[in-house]
Amino acid sequence: MPRTGSGISLQNLGKTYAAGRSPVVALEAANLSTDRGSFLSLLGPSGCGKSTVLRILAGLENPTTGDVLVDGKTPQDLRRGHELGIAFQDSALLPWRSVYANIRLPLEVSGLPADDAYIRELIALVGLEGFEKARPAQLSGGMRQRVSIARALVLKPSVLLLDEPFGALDDMTRQRLNLELLRIWTEKPATTLMVTHGISEAIFLSDTVAVMSPRPGRIKEVITVDLPRPRTPDMMRSPEFHALHDHASELLFAGPESPRQAAAPAGLEAR
Ligand code: ADP
Repeated sequence: MPRTGSGISLQNLGKTYAAGRSPVVALEAANLSTDRGSFLSLLGPSGCGKSTVLRILAGLENPTTGDVLVDGKTPQDLRRGHELGIAFQDSALLPWRSVYANIRLPLEVSGLPADDAYIRELIALVGLEGFEKARPAQLSGGMRQRVSIARALVLKPSVLLLDEPFGALDDMTRQRLNLELLRIWTEKPATTLMVTHGISEAIFLSDTVAVMSPRPGRIKEVITVDLPRPRTPDMMRSPEFHALHDHASELLFAGPESPRQAAAPAGLEAR
């Protein structure tokens, strides 16, 4: 994959929600840039603004300050060009539609012809051959997320946004699906952003991990993951992986940034 440096770009990105009496600063002065075709994870605890970044990149939310570009394009350009694929934690499948018809849906919504061969290729890619006619209620949580990933890929997107795609699943299923995601992403490369609070999966899958902190949401540090590709599960036992994991953990659990703030009353943390 050539490194062009024009993948995901956040420039002075800020978002304040006007919620009730006091506005919520969800994100403050976030700056970041990744390479086209690379895999970026936003890693951080709940409430640090990860989904806000994703929703801005998806064009579902407008920033209060700053700009975003992906592959040199605005979210509006990407949506217009059908270049975005999105998968959320909740698979958000239509319950009355079959696996096949759920995966076909973005083509219908975009007014594009249904490409039967490609839909079948995606069903095979996510390991759901034989389940084409099944309804979501007949599937396990992991299988529903596989459908959701296939649906995200059906427009052949150049940009993939994944919001904790396996966050609601048990640990074993999650690990297995992360391996599958790696394989799928290798076969269908895209400039990718994944939101997660899993340190291991962020490092295992990504080229870049942006560690975030809450209140207000900030990017604490951007870690380059220089583990070679193709990635294999045994790499998770390597000293290099452990060093990256330790570093990310330290950033996540170090708490407030300065010792003076660290001595502040515990009640502050609850705000
Ligand atoms: P994360 O994905 O890291 O859990 P979010 O981006 O969902 O974080 O939220 C960041 C902060 O913004 C949180 O404090 C959240 O409560 C607040 N927030 C998110 N969406 C809205 C909204 N639509 N209105 C008001 N506040 C919001």
